[in-house]
Amino acid sequence: QLASTKFVYDFTEGNKDLKDLLGGKGANLAEMTNLGLPVPPGFTITTEACKVYLESGSEPAALRAEVSKHLDALERKMGKKLGQADDPLLVSVRSGAKFSMPGMMDTVLNIGLSDASVSGLATQAGDERFAWDSYRRLIQMFGKTVLDVDGELFEEALEEAKRAKGVTVDVDLDAGDLRALVDQFKDIVAKETGRDFPQEPREQMDLAVRAVFDSWNTDRAKLYRRQERIPGDLGTAVNVCSMVFGNLGPDSGTGVAFTRDPASGHQGVYGDYLQNAQGEDVVAGIRNTVPLADLEGIDKASYDELMQIMETLETHYKDLCDIEFTIERGKLWMLQTRVGKRTAGAAFRIATQLVDQGLIDEAEALQRVNGAQLAQLMFPRFDLGAKSAMIGRGIAASPGAAVGKAVFDSYTAVKWSRSGEKVILIRRETNPDDLNGMIAAEGILTSRGGKTSHAAVVARGMGKTCVCGAEELEVDTKARRMTTREGTVIEEGDVVSIDGSTGKVYAGEVPVVPSPVVEYFEGRMHAGAEDADELVKAVHRIMAYADRVRRLRVRANADNAEDAARARRFGAQGIGLCRTEHMFLGERREMVERLILADTDADKEAALAELLPLQQADFTELFEAMDGLPVTVRLLDPPLHEFLPDITDLSVRVALAEARHEKHENDLRLLQAVHKLHEQNPMLGLRGVRLGLVIPGLFAMQVRAIAEAAAERKNNNGDPRAEIMIPLVGTVQELEIVREEAEQVIAEVEKERGVSLKLTLGTMIELPRAALTAGQIAESADFFSFGTNDLTQTVWGFSRDDVEASFFTAYLEKGIFGVSPFETIDKDGVGSLVRSAAAAGRATRPDLKLGVCGEHGGDPESVHFFHEVGLDYVSCSPFRIPVARLEAGRAAA
Ligand code: ADP
Ligand code: MG
Ligand code: MG
Repeated sequence: QLASTKFVYDFTEGNKDLKDLLGGKGANLAEMTNLGLPVPPGFTITTEACKVYLESGSEPAALRAEVSKHLDALERKMGKKLGQADDPLLVSVRSGAKFSMPGMMDTVLNIGLSDASVSGLATQAGDERFAWDSYRRLIQMFGKTVLDVDGELFEEALEEAKRAKGVTVDVDLDAGDLRALVDQFKDIVAKETGRDFPQEPREQMDLAVRAVFDSWNTDRAKLYRRQERIPGDLGTAVNVCSMVFGNLGPDSGTGVAFTRDPASGHQGVYGDYLQNAQGEDVVAGIRNTVPLADLEGIDKASYDELMQIMETLETHYKDLCDIEFTIERGKLWMLQTRVGKRTAGAAFRIATQLVDQGLIDEAEALQRVNGAQLAQLMFPRFDLGAKSAMIGRGIAASPGAAVGKAVFDSYTAVKWSRSGEKVILIRRETNPDDLNGMIAAEGILTSRGGKTSHAAVVARGMGKTCVCGAEELEVDTKARRMTTREGTVIEEGDVVSIDGSTGKVYAGEVPVVPSPVVEYFEGRMHAGAEDADELVKAVHRIMAYADRVRRLRVRANADNAEDAARARRFGAQGIGLCRTEHMFLGERREMVERLILADTDADKEAALAELLPLQQADFTELFEAMDGLPVTVRLLDPPLHEFLPDITDLSVRVALAEARHEKHENDLRLLQAVHKLHEQNPMLGLRGVRLGLVIPGLFAMQVRAIAEAAAERKNNNGDPRAEIMIPLVGTVQELEIVREEAEQVIAEVEKERGVSLKLTLGTMIELPRAALTAGQIAESADFFSFGTNDLTQTVWGFSRDDVEASFFTAYLEKGIFGVSPFETIDKDGVGSLVRSAAAAGRATRPDLKLGVCGEHGGDPESVHFFHEVGLDYVSCSPFRIPVARLEAGRAAA
C-alpha cells in the first residue's frame, strides 16, 4: 500500500468520471458541487480504502488520520463539530459503489446525535420535536443497518406509539412521544446487541463506514455480482455528507424528480414532494406525497431554483437525470443525481429528442438505446385504453402479453391446449415436471421465485410470456384455484391475462394490440405518415443511424418463402441458414422412409428421384423471395430416425398385426430400420455430413435440387445467390469428399442448362475439432458459418434440451452463469474458439466469408462480440433482425 495513496476526497475534489474510485453517488455529488449547485458539503472515502479493508480485514492505517483531516475541514466549513453538544454537526453515511447493487447497506442519517447533543439540536432549531424525531430515526437506522437489529422491532414500537396516542401518521407524535420512543429504541438496541447505543459521534461514524465496507460482501450483493458479472473486488465507496433537514416543519420537505418524463421523454415537471419529511419518507409511502408541480404553490423560490438546476443538469449530463433534493426552511439542497432509468419507448424517444436539441449526435443516440429495449417494444401489448381488473403484480420475467384460461397443472395445460384452448399455467413455482405444460401454455404465472427461478429461466429460453413471484396471489394447486389479496377467486377455466413486460396480472381478457413498432417494420405503418406515433418515428430514425454505421450484415434463418419475405421486410440481407430438414416432413416423410428402407440401388434412386423435384420447387420459391441476396442452404443435418415413426407406436402396430395375422411386412421392415437407426445419443450420432457420406446420393440429390433451382431462376432472369453449407464437419477430409461430389453435380447442371451458377460451398463450424482445425478446413471451404448452438453444446458437453430444464436454474442461482450460454455467447469458452477459428480460417483464405447462425445471432451482447471478432454477418430468426441491426450499429458506432 503506497504511502501516497489518497483515500479520501472532498466533494470539491472529485468529478463524475471518477466512478471507479468514488462510486456513482460520490462522483455525481462531486460533479454537482463543482457545477456550483447547492450540495451539502462532505467527502467520499474511496473504493481503494474499501479494497484494503476487504483484503486485510482492517482499514488502511492512514485512513483514520485522513478522515480526521477531512472531517476537520468540514467542521470548519460548517462552523460546528460533529456531535458538538450545544450545536451538533450531523452527517449521513451513504454507500455508493460503481454500480448500484441490491444488498448494499442502506444510508444512515443524523449521525452525531446523542443524549448529549439532542437538546443542543433542539435549541439551535428551536424545535424540540424535530430533534427527538431525528434522534429516533438515527437509532432506528443505525440499529438496523449497522448493528443488525431486526428492523421490525423498531417498526412495531413506532406503530404501538401511534396506536397508544390514537394517531395514524408519524408527524402527529409530539416531542414527548418521540423522546419516549428514543428510550424504547435504546432498550431494543441494548437488549438485542448486548451493548448500549454508541454515544460517541466519531465512533458512530466509523462504525457506519465499516458497516458499508462489510455490506460489499453480503450474500445478496455477492449473488448479484456473480449474476451480473461484476468483479467481486471493486469495493464500494462511502460518502459522508453533512445533514440538511426536511423535517423541520411545513417550510421544509424532501422530494425526488426527473428532468423529463421517464415514460414518454416529454419535458415537463415530474416528481413527488413531501412536506416535513426526511430521506426515504418520500418513497417509503408513509404519507401521501404531492406532485412536484405543487411545490410551486408551496415554495415558489425553491421551485424556481429547482427548475433551473434541472435544466443545468440536463444540459450538463446530456441526458435524463433523476434527482433527490431536500428543502430546509426554504433553502434548497441537492442530495443526489444520476442518469435516470426509463422505459424502453422513452429511451428511443429521448435519444432522438436529444439529437434534435443538439445535445448529442447520432452515434451517441445509438448508445442510448439497446436491442433488449427494441425487443420489448416488438411484443404485442395489452390495450391500455381497455378497462381491465388488475388483480396482482409480480416480476416481469419474460415479456409479452398472454391471455388464456387458468390451469393449475401441467397435465391439464397440455390436455386443454390440445383441444384448442389457450391456457395460462399457474403454479406456485414450476419445476422440470412442468415443462410440457409450459410448452403448451400461452404464458406462465407463478406466485414464488424471482428472475432466476425455474419458470423465469425456462420461459425466457422458450420466448414465452412469464410473470413470476406474484406473491399477493395465493395459489392452491390442489383446489385448482388462486385467490387474490382482495379475495377474488380465480378458478380453473377462468380467463386471466398476464403482462410479462410489466409483471401485471389481470382477471378476464384484456384485449391485445399488435406492437406499432412491428406494424412499422412490416410496412403497415409509415414513419413519415401524420398519424405515426412518436415512438415509431424515433425507432425509424435510430434504425437508420444503425444501418448507416454498422459493418456486420444481418441475415435471417428462414426455410420458406413466407419467412424469407417477412425477413426481407425486417431488413434481412439474405438468408444465413435455410434448414432443409423441414422440407422432409409432412407427406414427404414416406419418401424418406422409402429411401431408408430401399434394398437395392434402383429403389434408392427412385426414392431420391421422387424427392428431387419437391426440394427443387422449395428452393426456387426461396431464391425468388431473396432474389439478389445470398441464401445459405444447409444440407440435411438431423439424425434420420427423426423422420421415422415413433418406435413405440410402430412396435404396437406390428404386435397388433401379428396377433391378428394381418400382413405387416412393411411395418416390420420399418421397425427393423428404426431399431437399427436408434441411437443412445443422436446429437452425437449419425447426422450432418456423416449422413451425406454413408447414404450415397442423398447430398448429391440436394445439391442438384439447389443447382436446378438456381438455373431455373437464372433462366427466368432472376439473380439467385445460393451458398451450399455442409453441417457438422469435424475434419477437412469429410468436406473434401462432399465438395468433390457437389462440384461434379453442379458442373453437370451447368452444362445441361447452359448457365454458370457461381455456387459457393462452405461449412458450419460447430464442433470443437472443426474450430481447432479451421485453418485446414478453410482449404476446402468458401465460407464458415459458426453454428454456435451446437458449438455451445459440444464445447460444454451438455445437451440443451436436457439441461435448461434441469440444472440451469441451480447454476443461475449459484451465480455460475449470469445468463444461459445458449442465450448469450460464452465469450471465454465458445467465443474464444470462434475467435481463433475465424483467424485461422482467414490465415488460410483471406477472403473467407464468416458468419454465424444460431440463436446468438440475434442476441445483443453476442452481436457485439461477433462484430469485434470480425465476422461478416450474423443470421437470426426473422423477428430478431431489427434487434441485430440495431446492435450491429451500436457495436460499430
Ligand atoms: P439511496 O442510495 O438508497 O438513494 P441515499 O444515500 O441517497 O440512499 O440516501 C437515502 C435518503 O436519505 C435519500 O432520500 C437521500 O436524499 C437522503 N439523504 C442522504 N444524505 C442526506 C443528507 N446529508 N441530508 C439529508 N438527507 C439525506
Ligand atoms: Mg439516493
Ligand atoms: Mg448444428
